[in-house]
Amino acid sequence: MSSPMDMLPRVGLGWDRHALAAGESCTLAGVNIDSPVGPTGHSDADVILHALTDALLGAGGLDDLGTLFPDTDPQWKGASSDQFVAAAVALLADSGLRVISADMVVICDQPRLAPHRAAMRANLAQLLNLPIDRVNLKGKTTEGGGSAASQAIEVHAIVMLKGVPRAGGCS
Ligand code: MG
Repeated sequence: MSSPMDMLPRVGLGWDRHALAAGESCTLAGVNIDSPVGPTGHSDADVILHALTDALLGAGGLDDLGTLFPDTDPQWKGASSDQFVAAAVALLADSGLRVISADMVVICDQPRLAPHRAAMRANLAQLLNLPIDRVNLKGKTTEGGGSAASQAIEVHAIVMLKGVPRAGGCS
C-alpha cells in the first residue's frame, strides 16, 4: 500500500447464468441440493460461487474468472468452485485487500432455495472468512416471467473490500 487512496473501500460486481438441465447435480454456494435439475457447466457449475468470484476479482482489479480459470482448461473440468473463491481471496490478500461484505441475488424458478438458504449463507461466510451478518443471499423467482428464465439460474453478486495496512506500515 503506498497511497491513502489504497485504504478506501472498493466494490465489485459479478454476474453469472447457467442453463438448468434434468439429471445434472446441483451444487449452489457449495451446498449439495437434492433437485431434479441442476446447472450445466464445465466445472461443478456453481453459478453462485462463479458470480461471487467475479465480484471479488472485479473489486480488486484482478481480471476475471474466465481468464484465470478458463473453461477450455481440462484441469477445471468438474472442479469444485470453492477453490475459485479461495484463489480470489488469496489474490486479494496479496494485493493488501480483504473482503468486508458480500450480497447476492439468485434468480431461479427451481430448485427452491429457501430450505437451503441458511446453509448456503453459512458456507459463503466461511469461504470469505466473514461473520454471517456480513454475507447475504436472497432467492427470487421469475413468477412465470419468462420460459427461458425458468430453465436457467442467474446470480448477481456484489462485494465490498477494504485495504489492509501492511505489517510495518505507518498507517
Ligand atoms: Mg459460470
